[in-house]
Amino acid sequence: MTQKILLLPGDGIGPEITAEAVKLLTVLRDRHGFDATWSSAPIGGAGYDAAGHPLPPATLEAAKAADAILLAAVGGPKYDSLPKELRPERGLLGIRAGLGLYSNLRPAILYPELADASSLKPDVVSGLDILIVRELTGGIYFGKRETGVETDYKVGSHVIPSARVARDTEAYSDFEIARIARTAFEAARLRGKRLCSVDKNNVLESSQLWREVVIEVSKEYPDVTLSHLLVDNAAMQLVRAPKQFDVLVTSNMFGDILSDIAAELTGSIGMLPSASLNERGQGLYEPSHGSAPDIAGLGVANPLAMLLSVAMMLRYSLGRSDLADRIQAAVKTVLAAGLRTGDIAKPGEARIGTAAMGDAVVAALGH
Ligand code: NAD
Repeated sequence: MTQKILLLPGDGIGPEITAEAVKLLTVLRDRHGFDATWSSAPIGGAGYDAAGHPLPPATLEAAKAADAILLAAVGGPKYDSLPKELRPERGLLGIRAGLGLYSNLRPAILYPELADASSLKPDVVSGLDILIVRELTGGIYFGKRETGVETDYKVGSHVIPSARVARDTEAYSDFEIARIARTAFEAARLRGKRLCSVDKNNVLESSQLWREVVIEVSKEYPDVTLSHLLVDNAAMQLVRAPKQFDVLVTSNMFGDILSDIAAELTGSIGMLPSASLNERGQGLYEPSHGSAPDIAGLGVANPLAMLLSVAMMLRYSLGRSDLADRIQAAVKTVLAAGLRTGDIAKPGEARIGTAAMGDAVVAALGH
């Protein structure tokens, strides 16, 4: 069946890196039996310019009707003075909510050729390949919030007669934990078959339920080895010996923090793709970086995070892991050949532009 892809180029370097994704999709279609069609729609600042809203209704409708969505980036100084509800990032939040994207997959891969880019010692991170699965629509970021003045508020042995108090609530149901756990087990099955669940079950009730439910779900995946870590230890292990991990699964807030640590381990934001999936396996795929307004229009942006987002899309939504493997191998080949955009070049090293990097990946795909 022909797969439908929606392209959302967005702002800044977005259109430039989307052009490279289209180049890649075209070659996959014409030479590698990839049965797909694609169309584009505006989002973010481009949505505001075209239709007066960062998520025009027609864009959301097109997203709902697509099998997968490829988004480049949104935002830029031109839109900074707009009211909050019209800012480009509202387009992103709107599409995530509109599609019910509850699981966020963020790989952190450090190609041996780029090991110097990390702030950690090359032997600690060289060849790193881990995946963080973060729950995206529950937990403390979506729980009940309260702010107010309370009387006789207890702080240890103190009683404060009148205190300003703010509360956020971490709440998870077994339903939400089980579905993100399944996403993580499925992802682990496609990789090294090891899953580490991260929680704080020595303190939090919600984490105790988290661990219980993850263990229950693990019975459906006897081929995947499950382990557990407390979040403080997980953060420490990520910077001490990150290569011990394959897939990590965790709550919204812990995942927010751990996935940024993992991204920083690689030291190259222009290389990292991400995926957000819903219950139907429909996914939104995007680079982890922003719209880089400082280099927009110069033809120097690194398109690899975008091309690796195409690979994730093929693997997780379109059932073509074979083509995803091919793209990842092609990226390794171009890096091994010494091709570098400015963001990943060492001082004095030759640099190529966005289109040349896209061409190199396409050429390295083979036949
Ligand atoms: P950014 O990721 O856009 O840029 C940070 C730095 O990394 C810049 O120096 C930029 O030139 C560089 N960079 C980023 N991607 C690159 C690439 N592919 N190739 C080469 N260099 C690259 O983050 P920022 O500067 O904090 O934000 C800029 C705009 O992007 C803001 O409007 C912000 O709101 C938006 N933003 C959007 C997203 C998204 O669309 N998902 C994410 C983060 C930031």
